[in-house]
Amino acid sequence: MAFIDEYDFEFLKNEAENLVLKELGRQLETYSEPICLCNDCVLDMAAMALNSVKPLYRVSLLGTLYTATAMDEKIFGTNVREAVFDAIKKVSQNPGHEENSEEEEDDPGED
Ligand SMILES: [Zn+2]
Repeated sequence: MAFIDEYDFEFLKNEAENLVLKELGRQLETYSEPICLCNDCVLDMAAMALNSVKPLYRVSLLGTLYTATAMDEKIFGTNVREAVFDAIKKVSQNPGHEENSEEEEDDPGED
């Protein structure tokens, strides 16, 4: 049996991901300038922010055995806020796609 199949590595959870996604949602909701919120851009923002914060892995057995402590959240909060803010700015100023000022939408979902 392969080592990777021998243990339940799916119980490894990166809490940073939760925190970054929550913060991203918060900041986008209140963002003052008009920015592209297409799937590509928002996922780019999330990836960029996640790459610039420290991961916060935990073992989460039986669902959420324990979540980030207040201390983690506090230390993390500032970094996460900055990382998310930065990512939104970078992606919105430099989206990974052509700027579509004329909203021509291709059929959005193919799944
Ligand atoms: Zn976009």
